[in-house]
Amino acid sequence: MDEINALKEEICRVGRLLYDRGYVVSNDGNISVRSSEGRVWITPSGVSKGRMTPDMMVCTDLDGHVLSGDRYPSSENKMHLMVYRKRPDVRAVVHAHPPYSTACAICRRPLKERYLAEMVLGLGEVPVTEFAMLSTDQVPRSVEPFVADHSAVLLANHGALAWGPDLWAAFDRLEVVEQTARIYQLVDQIGGGVELTQKQAEDLRARTGFYQKLAGPRS
Ligand SMILES: [Zn+2]
Repeated sequence: MDEINALKEEICRVGRLLYDRGYVVSNDGNISVRSSEGRVWITPSGVSKGRMTPDMMVCTDLDGHVLSGDRYPSSENKMHLMVYRKRPDVRAVVHAHPPYSTACAICRRPLKERYLAEMVLGLGEVPVTEFAMLSTDQVPRSVEPFVADHSAVLLANHGALAWGPDLWAAFDRLEVVEQTARIYQLVDQIGGGVELTQKQAEDLRARTGFYQKLAGPRS
């Protein structure tokens, strides 16, 4: 299977997973992948992410000009394209409305980094953007300040956005954001958590290489 067919199939698989996990309902959310040629394949507007087929995907250049596909690209395509322009290392962007993350986005509550060891080792703090009118240039502008130094944001009164070096990495990050928001909800219910100290966080970060080595083949 060539790269583009594989990529379209993978977008459909991730779309079904977003739907099955309850991160999107109805026509919520959008997913994109940048191909090795530098083109962006994005989900179409107005379609449930749980019922997409590969032929529905739309291909655009980095300026948003449609190069192929019978449908309109997601109305939030500018947000995806901005991330790709700012981060040449990013190959995939996923946006959804997972309930706990979206609740934090409504409460304008960033996900603190030092509550959870895994956040220190992975995503870091997940900030909340300014509110932006949907499907306008305000959306990429609201996300832009965070793109260089983060891997995910909460979109104020809207949802969550994550990006990564490939589609599964972007999906995993979105899922970690949702799981973290869920845990922090429990922390609030219990009465508030205890943050790790700056020193403990630094010691954790120093172990990043150790975990990266374990993720590779054993030698
Ligand atoms: Zn949305």
